[in-house]
Amino acid sequence: MQEWLIGKGVFPLHERLRGRSTAACYHSLRNTERLPLEDLQALQKRKLQSLLKHCWAHVPFYRRRFEALGIKHTEELSIEVLDQLPVVERDDVREHLSHMVADTHTNRLIRHSTGGSTGQPLVFFTDRQKESWHNAAKLRGRAWFGIQPGSRQVDVWGSPVELNKQDAIRRFKDRWFLNQIVISALDLSDTAQARNAAILKRFRPRLVYGYPTVLFHMALYMERHPDAFGGWRPELTTCTSEVLYPHQREKMREVFQCPIGNEYGSRDGGHLAHECPAGNMHIAAEHVMLQVDKPDPQGAGDLIVTNLDGYGMPLLRYRLGDRVQLSHAPCACGLTLPVLAQVEGRMTDFLVGPDGNLIHSAALVGILRDLPDLKQFRIVQKKDLSIEVRLVRDAPVPEAELASMRQRMHAMMHSDLPISFSFHDHIPPAKSGKYVTLESEAYAART
Ligand SMILES: [Zn+2]
Repeated sequence: MQEWLIGKGVFPLHERLRGRSTAACYHSLRNTERLPLEDLQALQKRKLQSLLKHCWAHVPFYRRRFEALGIKHTEELSIEVLDQLPVVERDDVREHLSHMVADTHTNRLIRHSTGGSTGQPLVFFTDRQKESWHNAAKLRGRAWFGIQPGSRQVDVWGSPVELNKQDAIRRFKDRWFLNQIVISALDLSDTAQARNAAILKRFRPRLVYGYPTVLFHMALYMERHPDAFGGWRPELTTCTSEVLYPHQREKMREVFQCPIGNEYGSRDGGHLAHECPAGNMHIAAEHVMLQVDKPDPQGAGDLIVTNLDGYGMPLLRYRLGDRVQLSHAPCACGLTLPVLAQVEGRMTDFLVGPDGNLIHSAALVGILRDLPDLKQFRIVQKKDLSIEVRLVRDAPVPEAELASMRQRMHAMMHSDLPISFSFHDHIPPAKSGKYVTLESEAYAART
């Protein structure tokens, strides 16, 4: 279908039918991205004020925190209260989940689980309005590079091996009505790359979106097999979820011959920032308010997020865990949105398959995240390629469930590497001091 028809007609309608107002949020964001800084700050303050009032009236967790600060009446809730609130830790969310949900939204919440980069899964809720702003902010970042809603797009993503009927219908709809297809990020073998190249050659997407590690390997394959893509090159490559290293960016720019835009966000925190054509990460300041906890002399510290649109399960001063630095320097691109100067964290490793192929850790993490009440996990791959999955959970997992997980993991990896499960009270941080999802001795030995 024509891109303009999707962008102007089908996409907004699709979002409306899903209960989201993404198209309206997108237009609103396009109208505010160049406002004078004072006006942007005034907009943030207005949104924050109404969120604080909502939390006072409808969210017991924050009501208690406000009362602990000596606030007795909604009129006393000024925006300065935000800075006095204690930081919300992930453990707070684990312990107080039911009290963090607004009584106005109990029937309208969307359940998610996250924790992929730390191995400590977390269940939380969002609502359609928050997701609309999140998706709209993503679309806006791409529009800075000329990619409009409705443009042909490929997501290189973790995808299930067995498609049920519902998945198949969704894929058909995404392909033919939204111009979007998903190709698997899990298998980086030459066979899989050749299959993906054939899809890209036919579909010719303007935008390619995915993990930098995986897109980097796609660039390496394209460099070795330029003809497999039939002359196709993307107009924009957008990276997400992991650190984008300079060598990866350089290689992708050289081979794909297009700008590389980095995106930064998470389902719990929201869409936080997107790179502009001048190379700065602009904060989606209409949607999130970012603060730095205990900054060092250079200004770097833990990122604290307040999501201004999350009314279903509000997050006020939520510690996201990444180490960041904010900048107030103006950007040459003309956007007035403030800049996130530096982001550290979110390392990802690969597992190594039996024939030396690389397997993205998302292949296994997705399966572990489905396990209810999982407190922490780590995947360890030894040099002999065997895999140990360490789990922290109050109740043991029945043997039949473990066998089923093992089977799904084998299917995802296209291999039957030995997988064992072990149970622990706690998993200490890795040697680097970080809580990591995966430690692959086999991958480390290769690099
Ligand atoms: Zn800029």
